[in-house]
Amino acid sequence: MENNFRFTPNANVHKKIVTKFGGSSLASSEQFRKVKDILMRDPARMYVVPSAPGKRTKDDTKITDLLYRSFHLASEGKPIDEAFSLIRERYIGIRDELGLSTPIEKELDHIEKKICAGADADYCASRGEYLNGMLLADFLSWRFMDAEKVIFFKNDGTFDSEKTNVVMMALLADDIPTVVPGFYGIRPDGKVHTFSRGGSDITGAIVARAVRADAYENWTDVSGFLMADPRIVENPREISRITYAELRELSYMGATVLHEDAMFPVHKVGIPTVILNTNHPDHPGTLISLSLPVESMEPTITGIAGHKGFSVVAVEKAMMNAEIGFGRKVLQIFEECGISFEHMPSGIDSLSVVVSGEALAPHREEIVRRIAEECQPDSLTIHDHMSIIATVGRGMVNNCGSATRVFSAMSRAGVNVRMIDQGSSELSIIVGVDDADFETTIRAIYAEFVG
Ligand code: ASP
Repeated sequence: MENNFRFTPNANVHKKIVTKFGGSSLASSEQFRKVKDILMRDPARMYVVPSAPGKRTKDDTKITDLLYRSFHLASEGKPIDEAFSLIRERYIGIRDELGLSTPIEKELDHIEKKICAGADADYCASRGEYLNGMLLADFLSWRFMDAEKVIFFKNDGTFDSEKTNVVMMALLADDIPTVVPGFYGIRPDGKVHTFSRGGSDITGAIVARAVRADAYENWTDVSGFLMADPRIVENPREISRITYAELRELSYMGATVLHEDAMFPVHKVGIPTVILNTNHPDHPGTLISLSLPVESMEPTITGIAGHKGFSVVAVEKAMMNAEIGFGRKVLQIFEECGISFEHMPSGIDSLSVVVSGEALAPHREEIVRRIAEECQPDSLTIHDHMSIIATVGRGMVNNCGSATRVFSAMSRAGVNVRMIDQGSSELSIIVGVDDADFETTIRAIYAEFVG
């Protein structure tokens, strides 16, 4: 039988890593130098997706925001030179401090002219990544591949995954180290189109999928994910390993670091994502992968996240279980009002629809009236100012003690549980509490599982 293991002097030789650097990682020439060091440390890091320069200090303005500002000024017929000069200074400053000779003035002049001539918002915003990509490619002496050549959208603005994958695979097949600017691509009608804000994360994941990368490294200014919001829990622990499914639950509940849509391309093909810190490159960060061992997970949970401001529309009707189509009728009313529901815990004779309070407000009366008329419930109550909190962890699967721990921690903290929902994935336990108890609940659950 053939041995699968072959000795390779440099295990990284055939490895490919796609790196994405966020705006703060590329905000100044000093940050550019850190990025180059990181890339040079590992020859497997062959592809880089940059964001536009972000904030250098707390009060600084992101280049993308300055570009949107220029667009708005131009569309109101106002002069853009003040906003645009800040953009100009930033790029020229980075170029000069790095000792490069990229002809950036020519590009800047052209962009300024186009903005003044009425270029649309997506084109304007995309130039932040475009220019940063050019500078970075020059600094690294790598190939620059304009995202217009490899990222495709349909004319309705949806991402054209198939075309992108085919074209990108072909164009990047030569294994030449390449810079692909993040955030934008092109539509069949020739217009530049962007993803939503933070979308360079998505570009990075798409490149990782196309080149069949061994890993997608997302370099930012934090050392990975935290188990809870540090504004609520003091010094929460870092999450060193998490699965894509757990992360989906946590980010749905408000934990942000990575753009939500950046998970799909890599998750689908099983490429792990690593969240790393450009300012602390030796920190291991957070590894996100398809599956991870559950045994001896310590702590049992992976993280806690939540949101305030939900409304729960609770409908009760005797013998609801026997009335075919009751749930559909209720949900259809929400659907016709254009409100998507977040959760729907139900009992034998009751059903609750959890929706965003903000989304409900303009349709409140119509929904009450229609449910009363069309569903004839015994009672209909709306509880406002509710928070939904998810305790997430693959370690909770088949662990019946976890729910007990969540509820006893809440009861010790004097919090009234208003709603319980455990998804069939058994990856999370979701509780509803009054907004006033939001922080107390998160702290109590964290203390119970983590200490
Ligand atoms: N520059 C864009 C933004 O600020 C995209 C990104 O940074 O990912 O949203």
